[in-house]
This record gives sequence, structure tokens and C-alpha cells, in this order.
Amino acid sequence: MTTPTLAGYIGPSRAMSRPMGDSHRRFLQAMMAKGIINEQEARALHRHCCDAHNAHCAPDRLDEFIDVISSHLQPMFMQIRKGMSEEDGLPYYALVNMAETDVTRMSSDYADNELELFRKTMDLILGSETGSVSSTDILNSADSLQTKKLKKSETEHLLSRLVMDKWLNEKRGEYTLSTRCIIEMEPYIRTMYQDQVKLCHICHNIVFQCQICENPTCGIKIHNPCVARYFKGRAEPRCPACDDFWPHEIPEVRRLQSQSRR
Ligand SMILES: [Zn+2]
Ligand SMILES: [Zn+2]
Repeated sequence: MTTPTLAGYIGPSRAMSRPMGDSHRRFLQAMMAKGIINEQEARALHRHCCDAHNAHCAPDRLDEFIDVISSHLQPMFMQIRKGMSEEDGLPYYALVNMAETDVTRMSSDYADNELELFRKTMDLILGSETGSVSSTDILNSADSLQTKKLKKSETEHLLSRLVMDKWLNEKRGEYTLSTRCIIEMEPYIRTMYQDQVKLCHICHNIVFQCQICENPTCGIKIHNPCVARYFKGRAEPRCPACDDFWPHEIPEVRRLQSQSRR
């Protein structure tokens, strides 16, 4: 009765946020260790954390559960953000840092010339049609670093670290931005690469690896998993924007996707 106006001093979002329980804390600890998990893993982890602390688990309320954690992370400029993988089209959750707006957020783990090379790699990926860049092109750009040159062996070592730290993916010598990188860096990428950045015509998320409409007046981009879903069961694939024939090979919808939609 002595502090009836206290609620007035708490911001609306704080007042609305529910307290974190042990199950939330356990989930957060796992996220801190892993950095990024797919939706299926998040569901399993949610169940596990609730079971471990005898908390009631509402499987269909995973996003609400995660929102509670995110609201408590906000003062630390962190957030658990949801995004889609360009590889498998599945939703993923990543623990992201919102304090730094660009690549400097990685400065505790990487030296200045390493960050410069990572920026150059992003430039090459953003400038490519395929959303990927070859190791050869990255090695060549390592020669022109302004901060401090990197030797070939140093560059190769750096690239494997960037893959291990889940900033880049590598397949047969081709590098792409990882899902974690896209989720975390999206605001930076949208600001820095305004003219180059494209959105997927189907899901409207930022797009790198994709198929492109070959009609020069159209040229829309669609993620590979979005292509698979959109054209599934259609007799003749036609561009959803200009209706031209879609000449690319249509990938199969991955089995994992239908499983996770149960
Ligand atoms: Zn898409
Ligand atoms: Zn088109």
C-alpha cells in the first residue's frame, strides 16, 4: 500500500515482461554456449529446460518463452532473434548483440586486419550474383589490406576460424554468409549495402543465395528453399513477378521442413 504508484515508474515494456524463471535461465545458458539453434532444437531445449525445473511447458508458446528472455536481455543490448536459413529454409534462433551496429562487434575475437578481410569478404559476397565467393578471390583481396597484410596461410587459418565461429559457411571452396551472420548483421547489411541488398520475392527476407529471374526487366531473386516450396506441384514453373518461364532447376523441398511443420 505504500508504493501504489511504483508501476508508473517502470517503463511499459518492463512492466509487461514476465520474470525469468530457472527454465528461462537454463535456456539462455544453452544459447550462450551454442550461439544459434534451429527451431527443432529450440523446441527440444525448451522442453528439456521446463522438465529440468518442473516448470509448465507450453510447446506452442516457444516464441513467448523466448520473448521473456529477450526482454531481460534488452538492458544488456542482447536479443534472441529469429531468422531463416538460406541453406535449408528452416527457422533459426540466434543470440545476437545489438550494441554494436557493424563488424566491430567482432573486435574482441579478431584483429583489425582480420576484420578488414571479413568486410572485404562481405563486399565480395554482396557484389556477387550467387551470394558466394571463392577462396581464391578472398586470398587475392588479402593482398590489398590497408591495415596489415595477411599471408596466405594466415588467411586460410582466419577463414577456418570464421567458419568455426559461425560467421561464414564453406562448401567446396565457396564461402557464403552463415545464418547466424545474416540474422545478427542484417541491420548493418541493410544500411551499408542499400543498393546491393535484395529481398526474396516470396518470403521478403534479405537474400544472398538464390535463383534469379533471367528476364532482364524483372530479375527478382528467390531463396533456394523458397523456390522449392513455391514451385512444388506446379506443372510449369513461371516467375511469380513477370510470368516468364523459370529456367532454373527446381530444388526438392527438404524432408526436414515437412517434419518440422508437424
Ligand atoms: Zn525467401
Ligand atoms: Zn521475372
